[in-house]
Parts: sequence; structure tokens; C-alpha cells
Amino acid sequence: MNPSPSIFRPGAGVSGELFADLHLHTLFSDGTFSPEELARRGAQAGLAAMALTDHDTVEGCARMAGACRTLGIEFITGTELTAEFEGHEVHLLGYFIDTQQPRLLDEIKKFQAVRQERVLEMVSRINKLGLPLRAETVFALANCQSPGRPHVGRALVQEGFCATLEAAFERFLKKGRPAWVPKYKISAADAMELIHQAGGLAVMAHPGLNHCDHIIPQLARDGLDGLECFHSKHSGTQSRYYLALAGSLHLAVTGGSDCHGFSKGKPLIGGVKLPLAYLEKLKEARRAHPAAAPLH
Ligand code: AMP
Ligand code: ZN
Ligand code: FE
Ligand code: FE
Repeated sequence: MNPSPSIFRPGAGVSGELFADLHLHTLFSDGTFSPEELARRGAQAGLAAMALTDHDTVEGCARMAGACRTLGIEFITGTELTAEFEGHEVHLLGYFIDTQQPRLLDEIKKFQAVRQERVLEMVSRINKLGLPLRAETVFALANCQSPGRPHVGRALVQEGFCATLEAAFERFLKKGRPAWVPKYKISAADAMELIHQAGGLAVMAHPGLNHCDHIIPQLARDGLDGLECFHSKHSGTQSRYYLALAGSLHLAVTGGSDCHGFSKGKPLIGGVKLPLAYLEKLKEARRAHPAAAPLH
């Protein structure tokens, strides 16, 4: 069977088909929407299901679940962990995780502590360059447990030290710039184990952005459950390539916009629409998983 062309042209759906967006951020990490605003925009975009995948946190999941319930949208819990495999940075999405699981919360707390330390180090470097940015300003602006470079950048703009967020990254925050501090990464194997023991499935996010396709078969052997074939930054050719790869490695297929609200230009929500049949397959994989508890 030829797949529907709509899946290669995100958003160009066949009428009547239902869609999901499984990669979304809120202001609980580096997005600009509250969970309620994100859910509202999802409803406007006609989404039937949404997953929240904030970086290194599950803080927004409870509110997002409530907002989705009110709007009649199916909600899937999630997070996006920054991990490392043989020197390559990979982002691992954890879906269906139990957001109350003590070990998951413990580990996440460690990632968040490291992120907060990293903000202090970035601010200290900026101070050494002569700009009196205060860490408190960054933390107040971030107002979440998982602060990162965008929050430092926004604080630099707010305090009048940089004209735009882009300028802040160019001058201070980009890799190799004076206030750039590498981010802590757990091993991909540990991240996948953490996701699994919290009852979730581990999916490699946006492989098209990571330029390390050769490691995907090894990740699959180590427990990877799925591949994010559809993503705002994937071309149709890339989506087709990853669909074939997912098929040959028996990985589930996922997709999402990776919307960060207004923090990276225009909101991307609604730009990638994953046909709901893929979500059903993901749920089947979830039910078959050894660590699985009943879905509802
Ligand atoms: P962090 O996780 O703290 O390293 O921050 C990563 C975030 O910074 C991601 O959401 C990126 O999209 C964002 N980012 C990276 N480079 C830039 C840039 N040049 N301008 C704006 N945001 C950026
Ligand atoms: Zn992000
Ligand atoms: Fe990512
Ligand atoms: Fe993301």
C-alpha cells in the first residue's frame, strides 16, 4: 500500500483524518506557551492528541493533561532528555511515562540541578566580560526547574545588554562563544532505561538534525522503541528515509512539530500532523513492553 501523500506534506491532511502532535514544549522548559495556551492552539489546529515533551522535566504534564481533557484532546505524557552515544548528542523522547515515578523524579531533579548550575556558570562568564547580568534575573524570568540558554538570552535582551535573542546567542551563547557551557548528557542507554522503568517508550527525536544515522541500529539494539520520522525540520525525503529505517529496525514511527511557541520565531504547532494510526501503533508497542502498566 502506498502511504498517503499527506504524511509527506505535513498539514495537508485528507479530510476526516485525525492527527497528533507528539513533540511540544511549554514555558516549563524553553517554550513560551503555558500548557493551557498550547492545548488551546492544538485544538485550533484540529489536533486529536498531543504529547508534552519539555526538556528534562515533567512539570507541565499535570496542567497539560487538565487542559487537554477540557478540550477533548487525548494527552500523552512525555519529556525530552539530552543524551549521548559514542560522542553524538541525541535527544530521547520518553512517552507514556509515569510522571509521579520516584526514580524518574529523582533523576530529573539531578538534571535540573545541573541546568541551574550551568546558568550560574554562564552568568559568571558574562559578568567576567563586564556585563552585570544577575543570575536571579535569569531564574525569575525562567520561572521553571529546567532553565537553559534561551532564558539567559532573554534576560540579556530584557536587561538591554543585547538587542535580540539571536544577537545574544551570536555574541555569548552559541557553541564556542564565551559564555557557552556544555550541557550535561546522560548516556543514551541510561536515558532509555530510565524511560522504560518509568513505564515509557524511548523514541529518538529529530534524527535528521543529529547527523548520526549510523548509530540508530545500535540504539535499537540497546532498547530504542521508536523514531521521530516526521519533524518540522525534516524534508519529505528525510521523512521517507526514516520511515523506511524505522520499518527495517521494527521501530515505532512518531512525529511532532517541536513547537517552542514564539521562542524560535513563529509557533510551529499544526505544521506537522501525525496520522493517528501511528499513535495507535505506538500504544500497541507500549502495551507489549515488559515494563508496561495498563494505559488507562
Ligand atoms: P540549552 O538546552 O540550554 O542548550 O538550549 C537549547 C535551546 O536554545 C534550544 O531550544 C535551541 O533551539 C535554542 N537555541 C540554540 N541556538 C539558538 C539561536 N541561535 N537562537 C535562538 N535560540 C537558539
Ligand atoms: Zn527546546
Ligand atoms: Fe530536541
Ligand atoms: Fe524539542
